[in-house]
Amino acid sequence: MEPALEREATRRPDAEELEDDNLLKLSIIALENFQGFFMYSGRISNCYDSHSHLLATGEVQMRLNLRGLKDPDQVSELIVRDHHKKGSWLVGFGYDESSWNQKPHRRFLDQAFPKTPVVFSRCDGHVYWVNTQALREMGWLSAEGQLKVTVPSVVGGEIPVGIDGVPTGVFVDAAKLLVEPHIPKDTASETKGYLMAGMRVFRENGFTHVRDMSCSEMQWNELLKLEASGLLTLAIEQTFSAETPEQFEEALDLARRAIKVPLKKIRPQAIKVYYDGALGSEGALLSQPYQTSKDTYGLQLLTQNQLLEFMRRSWELPLDFAVHTIGDRAADDVVNVAVELWEQGVKGCLHLEHAEVMRPETIQKLKGRKSVCHLQPCHWLTDHIWLKQKLGALTQYAFPWATLQEWEVPFYFGSDSPISRPSINDNFEALAQSQKQGIAPLKGRGDIYHSHPDHDWVSNTFTVFQDGLVKEVVFEGTPIYQQSDHS
Ligand SMILES: [Zn+2]
Repeated sequence: MEPALEREATRRPDAEELEDDNLLKLSIIALENFQGFFMYSGRISNCYDSHSHLLATGEVQMRLNLRGLKDPDQVSELIVRDHHKKGSWLVGFGYDESSWNQKPHRRFLDQAFPKTPVVFSRCDGHVYWVNTQALREMGWLSAEGQLKVTVPSVVGGEIPVGIDGVPTGVFVDAAKLLVEPHIPKDTASETKGYLMAGMRVFRENGFTHVRDMSCSEMQWNELLKLEASGLLTLAIEQTFSAETPEQFEEALDLARRAIKVPLKKIRPQAIKVYYDGALGSEGALLSQPYQTSKDTYGLQLLTQNQLLEFMRRSWELPLDFAVHTIGDRAADDVVNVAVELWEQGVKGCLHLEHAEVMRPETIQKLKGRKSVCHLQPCHWLTDHIWLKQKLGALTQYAFPWATLQEWEVPFYFGSDSPISRPSINDNFEALAQSQKQGIAPLKGRGDIYHSHPDHDWVSNTFTVFQDGLVKEVVFEGTPIYQQSDHS
């Protein structure tokens, strides 16, 4: 095999050669800012996406794709189909207002959708943008548009209001949870459908092993049925996530039951919590204020005591403990709590999710400890546009794969699908392009960070890539995808 990062691109596929799917096509367009597209060729055993959301990857195939919106006014040009709806609610995914001249506001949605409740999710999954009808269905507004409630202040979240005191329709981070109970729930058969669609997306992109970062009781039950019926053509490390501290007991309870079930292709692995928010919406917790809004350091979604307690209880289960940490201050806080427990003799493995900004002194504390970082190089492709603008001097600590290598802290690569599409090639493209813009380069091959380390788990499983495309996927000795299937 040739070194993963040394093949330069000569040609990239036309969008038509890929799956007929708006999401994939539009992400390709986003990459067209780059010169010298990378085309990976090689064979990867147990091809692994170390941070992804299986159910959501399947679900966004069904929902309204907002990646192409250049301005909130363009909402009125969206073509809406029946399958974009969840019950009576119109659900969309993937808008990014960072280059818009106007901020998202419910009035833009109201012009196009005066009667239908609408919820649009930002491209990073950390913000909801809803219309007036949605606020009515939530019981916040009267039919005439009068505010019926006191707008709550949410710990770890934000609900901007206009000069009239009425919410603008934007719900950031923890505030999203106030909208969620009002969105119609999925049925078991819809859940199964999303899981199957998610499996197809991973298969077509060459992945045979995923670490799935969210799991509800219903998803778990459907996964068990898929495994029992032999339909599961994906090896899944399952994480049980608590989006808020209040959800921790529920996640722990599901995990406690899950580890008792003997399974072949699904491995319950960790409990996951959120310590900070996303960088795009300035929720990632930094050690220095954001350059763009001088008094903002980001969100801290758990207290140190909660974190310590949750970590200890997960490790005692015994399961690993995974924490969403994007900012450098978040990573350092979480590592300090883990060190405290390790030094008390509590044993357990810590996973840092995203680890997009991490200072060397934090990384150094992990040397020789049981920990794994999960990075998504592809996020550089979208984030590099504003990275320096937001982070200032902290930019030098962004995408710290070289420092992790230096301190021998284990890490893997993933996509955070559906936030980014699951693509080996995009990650290698990002590794190649980012070093031209000052990110310290990864030493050696990139593909080893995309191979699940346990080669005995679902053995005789591999993927062949040629010129950036998936040529063949073999799962437990059986070909489950071939390039010709694709045409
Ligand atoms: Zn994620």
